Amino acid sequence: MRDLMVQPNAQQTIRLEQLRSFVLWKMAEIHDFQTSRYATLEKIPLGVLRKNATQKHGVTRWRQHTHHLSIEGIELHPELLNEEWQEYAKFVLYHEFLHGIGFKHHDAIFRHLESRWPLKNRKKVGRKFTVFLQRKNASWQWVCSNCDILIFRKKPSRGKYICKSCKTVLVDEPLYS
Ligand SMILES: [Zn+2]
Ligand SMILES: [Zn+2]
Repeated sequence: MRDLMVQPNAQQTIRLEQLRSFVLWKMAEIHDFQTSRYATLEKIPLGVLRKNATQKHGVTRWRQHTHHLSIEGIELHPELLNEEWQEYAKFVLYHEFLHGIGFKHHDAIFRHLESRWPLKNRKKVGRKFTVFLQRKNASWQWVCSNCDILIFRKKPSRGKYICKSCKTVLVDEPLYS
């Protein structure tokens, strides 16, 4: 079973198209793309992931045909469309565009092309975005009474998890929003 693409609203569509234009312009500066490949990226439908997604920041959807795969669309997390995340959003779209021009796996060539995008600390920014999403969707925080560690989750830990650094059993505290 697969979930359907979420249709972006009018405002999200404008934002997605702005991101597309910027990333394509920047890509042309970074690489020499074959015109046909570039044209694919101009037409790929752009959408948004479900709001409560916390693990994925962007996704490229493929459709299986008898002998080949074709691209159905690229989705970004809707929170990436907010101004404060725009630099990271451009990188995520660039990453998905690399899939879009045929690099299906995160192999060495893919990682090399990816590394040419001019965003420093992108792993750190990515982790920050993950924590931001987890916090936004959390109903509980798991607390280590020993360290300053907070983990945001939808469910309580019920004494089943320990702190990675000091091995103390984490304590559940409900969050109210
Ligand atoms: Zn990827
Ligand atoms: Zn601890």
